[in-house]
Amino acid sequence: MQITPRLHAFLWDSMTANNCNTYFIDGPTRILIDPGHTAHFDHVLHGLDQLGVDLADIGLIICTHAHPDHIEAVQLFKDLQALTAIHVQDWSLAKQMEEQIHSLLKLNLDDFAPDFFLSDGELHIEDLVLKVIHSPGHSPGSIALYWPEEEALITGDVLFEEGVGRTDLPGGNGKQLKESIDALSQLNVATLLPGHGPLIQGKNNVKLNFKQLQQVWFQYI
Ligand SMILES: [Zn+2]
Repeated sequence: MQITPRLHAFLWDSMTANNCNTYFIDGPTRILIDPGHTAHFDHVLHGLDQLGVDLADIGLIICTHAHPDHIEAVQLFKDLQALTAIHVQDWSLAKQMEEQIHSLLKLNLDDFAPDFFLSDGELHIEDLVLKVIHSPGHSPGSIALYWPEEEALITGDVLFEEGVGRTDLPGGNGKQLKESIDALSQLNVATLLPGHGPLIQGKNNVKLNFKQLQQVWFQYI
């Protein structure tokens, strides 16, 4: 699904299997955001294929956080050119849980080793400027990505349409999540692209959604 000339969404809409939404930014460096589960990666492959993009064409993978339903398919790129980036705090948490991750999920963390860490501030990729916004609460190293030129905000699992991220997973924190959502609500956003569920399009709808989260959902976290 094309959102703007350079921004594409591969939304996950199955009601029976969990996976995240994946986003793709086209340009001199092709960027994939949250590749999702390996077992469900076909839907991303299909979306890229329709755009004439091969996995080997991807230059950068940005992970909004380190949960397996967002990053597992990073391992498919280990022999390709793509660089991988994540916030250091989620990588540290993953390293702390390395044994469990290996025994429960059969994943080898070495296949996910980031090439660089994301931190608050501007990320310049040729002509593209993305703002990385550290947004802890769902996980300690969750980030949101704001693209000022397109007024687009990719939130990972910080917030959704009519919902907020879980805070009961390792490193989750309700107070931080509220602060993160409050900070993101100040941005000028025409398209909000969450880690799960539908997009929110139109500035009024985005504002209304933030208001609803603050007024209704905040009392539960
Ligand atoms: Zn998550």
